[in-house]
Amino acid sequence: MQDLSTGVARFQQDVFPAKAELFAHLAATHRPTTLFIGCSDARVVPELITQSEPGELFVIRTAGNLVPAYAPGPDGVAASIEYAVAVLNVAEIVVCGHSACGAMTALAEGHDLTALPTIAGWLHHADASRARTAVTGPGEEAVAALVRENVAAQLANLATHPSVARALARHAVTLRGWVYDIPTGAVAELDAA
Ligand code: ZN
Repeated sequence: MQDLSTGVARFQQDVFPAKAELFAHLAATHRPTTLFIGCSDARVVPELITQSEPGELFVIRTAGNLVPAYAPGPDGVAASIEYAVAVLNVAEIVVCGHSACGAMTALAEGHDLTALPTIAGWLHHADASRARTAVTGPGEEAVAALVRENVAAQLANLATHPSVARALARHAVTLRGWVYDIPTGAVAELDAA
């Protein structure tokens, strides 16, 4: 793996000058059109798989691309959603799951998480995802099924956020569910997201 400071140096020498005009524009402009909610997994890079430029995606990444249902109180995910929808007026929100997700694998295969209490607690936001998944037990098929159902369940959670509910009522925002397949690069769009 390349050293991070080598990467920064390469960015400043090669990448930044090539996009200098864009960065000058972005210095005072923040108008992303899409809120992209993906997994923290290092292999799922939103800007890469959508070929987006800086300034185009407002990104939230959480373990398992989970979006807790709205509850009053300080919450980083909820605050970022509200900012994207109510202030930046994004036109679409994508919730993107992915193949071989560690969080979904732990749930589908019933891993022992007693030594990881924070993860165990966080993954309760996928209880409805598990409840709606017909395929159970260990194995790739069960993980894939849970990944899909989890995207659908998180879209439902997203709609409980007042800013999102308001935008949906005005038909000002579209919700989309995706599953990204790491080995092939395919992106499947879920129906009736
Ligand atoms: Zn994941």
